[in-house]
Amino acid sequence: MSSFKNDYSESVKRAALRYAEKGFNVVVLQSPLGEGKCSCGKDTCPAIGKHPITKHGVKDATTNYEIIGSWTNRERPMNIGIATGEKSGILAVDVDERHGGHESLYFFEKKNGVLPKTRVCFTGNGKHLYFRYPKGIDIKCPTEVLKGIDIRGNGGYVVAPPSLHASGVHYQWEDENVEIAEMPPALLKLITSAKTLSIDDYDLKKAERAALLNNTSERNPSSSVSLQIGKDFDSATLLVLKTARDFLEAVNHLKK
Ligand SMILES: [Zn+2]
Repeated sequence: MSSFKNDYSESVKRAALRYAEKGFNVVVLQSPLGEGKCSCGKDTCPAIGKHPITKHGVKDATTNYEIIGSWTNRERPMNIGIATGEKSGILAVDVDERHGGHESLYFFEKKNGVLPKTRVCFTGNGKHLYFRYPKGIDIKCPTEVLKGIDIRGNGGYVVAPPSLHASGVHYQWEDENVEIAEMPPALLKLITSAKTLSIDDYDLKKAERAALLNNTSERNPSSSVSLQIGKDFDSATLLVLKTARDFLEAVNHLKK
């Protein structure tokens, strides 16, 4: 007789192998245990169920069946992540509805046209839009390219179905068989220009982002943004920069 837990472990394993077969490099992640707890055991884990179990984090991501098999055969709760960037040939747009991501996407599409149909993963608080990684450009993981929208490219990863989110819902494909679309020029332009503008919010999400982007729960804010904030700017300067940026965004919306 199979328990729910075993069925879940089996579905995680099957998904990991399926992704690898398609060329996505996968990595095993910690899993939420409920009531705000993470399987890593830390009382104040900033990225519950979202950070890699393996020693070198997302650098361990692989398409090797044997390695994936050895990870997923273990009797422990785990989630699954897909490395983004050139390595897997994908870039993910992370739309966070708690931070206004859906509204930003709405305004972006109103101005630039509707994004092409592509692979979509529903997360615990928004969605990931997958696009083909554009060749010849190094895109890392700029955050807040628009309010509530982060990018996952080189060095990053996304949590993938059927992983469990801390909110209790499972990550879910809208349709796993939909082709991943080429990145539309307007989106590429936004992302590449945002590389010099994106500023990490000094909010609660920062620790979570740092953990996601750096594979550990250590804080390393400057690595997630191209403008090297942190060492050179104090928080008051940051606030001024952020306010100015929000103002410019608002003006741009009005100008459409
Ligand atoms: Zn944890």
